[in-house]
Amino acid sequence: MATDGDDPGDGSPARQRKASLGDRAAWRVLLDQVRPHRRTLLLGGLLSLAGSLAGLAMPLMAKQVIDAFGAGGTTTGPVLGLSAAVMAGALVAAAGRFLLERMGETIVLASRRTLVDRILRLRVPEVDRLSPGDLLSRVGSDTTLLRAVCTDALASLVGGAFTFLGAAVMMAVMDGLLLGVTLAVVALVAVMGVVIAPRIRRASLRAQEALGEMGSMLDRALQAFRTVKASGAEIRETAVVTAAATEARDRGVAAAGWTSLAGVGAWTSIQLAFLAVLGVGGARVASGEMEISALIAFLMYLFYLVSPIGQVIQSLTQMQNGLAAVTRIQEIALLPAEPVAAPAPMPTQAGGDPVGVTFTDVVFRYDEDRPIVHHGVTFEVPAGGMTALVGPSGAGKSTVFGLIERFYEADEGAIAIGGRDIRDWPLGELRSMLGYVEQDAPVLAGTLRENLVFGAPEATGEEIARALARTRLDDLVERLPEGLETPVGHRGVLLSGGERQRVAIARALLRRPRLLLLDEATSQLDAVNELRLREVVAEVARETTVLVIAHRLSTVTGADRIVVMEAGRVRAWGTHDELVAADALYRELAATQFLVAT
Ligand code: ADP
Repeated sequence: MATDGDDPGDGSPARQRKASLGDRAAWRVLLDQVRPHRRTLLLGGLLSLAGSLAGLAMPLMAKQVIDAFGAGGTTTGPVLGLSAAVMAGALVAAAGRFLLERMGETIVLASRRTLVDRILRLRVPEVDRLSPGDLLSRVGSDTTLLRAVCTDALASLVGGAFTFLGAAVMMAVMDGLLLGVTLAVVALVAVMGVVIAPRIRRASLRAQEALGEMGSMLDRALQAFRTVKASGAEIRETAVVTAAATEARDRGVAAAGWTSLAGVGAWTSIQLAFLAVLGVGGARVASGEMEISALIAFLMYLFYLVSPIGQVIQSLTQMQNGLAAVTRIQEIALLPAEPVAAPAPMPTQAGGDPVGVTFTDVVFRYDEDRPIVHHGVTFEVPAGGMTALVGPSGAGKSTVFGLIERFYEADEGAIAIGGRDIRDWPLGELRSMLGYVEQDAPVLAGTLRENLVFGAPEATGEEIARALARTRLDDLVERLPEGLETPVGHRGVLLSGGERQRVAIARALLRRPRLLLLDEATSQLDAVNELRLREVVAEVARETTVLVIAHRLSTVTGADRIVVMEAGRVRAWGTHDELVAADALYRELAATQFLVAT
C-alpha cells in the first residue's frame, strides 16, 4: 500500500502543511487502491447507468401515456412498456451495484492484509513507541470506515454521477433553458460542498484518533487488570476510557452537524430548482411555448437529476470519513518495517553447529533523546557451552539480546555471530539460528502444542516429545486434562512460572538453535522447578551455545564463563572462582543479589 515517494506530508519539516498535503496523499492512496479495479468500476458504473437509462425512459413514456390520454387513445401498450422498463432497469442497476460493492470489499481486504502484514513486520522500536490499543483500532475501526467508503460511497458516487449525467443530457435535449436554471442552482450546492467537506474530514479524523486513544486506554487497564482492581482504580480507569469515548462522540456529532448542514443545503437547492423550473416552465406553458406534458416530464427529470445530487453529496461526506481513515492507515504503512517476506528457513535436520558471538566496542541507545545504554561493550562468547551475563539491573544485559536479534541496530561498533557481522546475515537466516527465551516467557493464547511449535511449525511429534523430555515437561503433559491439546490460556494462567519458562525453552529448542538466548526469570522458583531448569540449561549447553542472563547463583556456578556488566560496560569476565577472587562487584552480587545456593 505504501506508494513510492508519495509521502510529502510525512517528513518532519513543515508541520502545518502536513494536513493539506496529507489530504492529497490520502486521495492518492485511495485512488491507488481503486486503480487495479478500474475495469470493474467502469462495468459497474455502466450497468448502473444502463439501469438509470431504463429509469430515464420513464418520464418520456409517462409523457406518451399522458399524450395518449389527451388524444383519447389506448394506454395499455405504453403502460406495459413502462413496467418492463422499470423492472429491467432495477435488475441491471442492482447488478451494477453488486459489482461495485464486491470491488469495495476486495479493496478493504487488501488494505487489511497490508496493514496486518505491515504491523507484524514493524521494527521493534516503532512498536515500543506505538500503543497496541491504537494499532488495534486502526485495523478494526479504520478499515471498517474504509469499507463504508469503498462499498457505499464509491458505488453511490459512480452510480449517482452517471445518473446525473444521463438526466442532464435528456434535459438538455428537452429544454436547454430550463436545464440552465437547474444547473445554476446545482452549482450553489457544489460551492457549499467544497467549503464543508474539509471540516467533516477533520472532525472525523479526530473522532478516529479518539477511538484509537480509547483502545489504548482500555488496553492499558487490561494489561494491568489485577493492579487496577488491587488499587481500587476501576472507576478512575473507566472515566479515562470513557473520556476518550466522549471525545469520539463529540467529534462524531461535529461531523454529523456539518453533514446535516450539507444535507439542508442540498435539500433546499433541490426545492429551489424545482420552484425555479416550475416558475419559468409554467410561464412558458402559459404563453404556449411549451406543452404541459413536456413540463411534467422535465420536472420528473429534475428529480432524477437531483436525487443523485443528494446521493453524491452523501457519498462525498462519507468519503471524508474514509479519507480520515486512509490517513490513519497510511501512517502505519509508512513506518519503517523489516524486510522479512518469506518465512525464516528452518535449519536442516542436523540443526547446525553452535555459533559464538562477539561484541566489539558496541555503543547503543534506544533513541536519540535517550541516554546511552551501551558505552562500548566488548566481550566474546565462544561457540558451545554456557556463558552467563550478570550485573545489576539496568546494566544493559537484555539490550545485548535485543541487539543480537537485531530488534535494534547498534549505533557504533560491531556484533558478529559465527564470525560474520550480523548486518551481513539475511535477517530471516540470522533469527532462524537463534532461540530466544524472554524473561517473562510469554505463553500465547492457544493449546500447549501450538505454543511449542510456534517457532517451528513443521516439528514432528517425535521432535516435540524429545523437546518435552529435555525440558522435563513430560509429567506436565500427563497432568493436563487434554495433554498437548489443552488450551493454556492467553496468559498461560494454567501453568506455573517455572513451567512457563520451560515451555518457552522447549519452544526455542524446537527451532534447533545454534545459539540460545535465555533471559532468566527474576521471580523465585520453587526448589524442584529451579533444579529442573538448571538441569535443562546444562544439558542444552552441551549441544549448543547458551548465553544466559543469570539471576541465580545456581545458574552462574554451572556456567563455563561469566561476563560481568555494569552501567553499559563489561567490567570483568572469567569463571566463578576467578571472579569471586578478582572482582568486587561480582563478589557483592554473588553475596547479595543472587539467590544463595543450597
Ligand atoms: P538489564 O537487562 O541489565 O536490567 P536493560 O538492557 O534491560 O538492562 O536496560 C538498560 C537500560 O536501557 C535501562 O536504563 C532501561 O531503562 C533502558 N531500556 C531498556 N529497554 C528499553 C526500551 N525498549 N526503550 C527504551 N529504553 C530501554
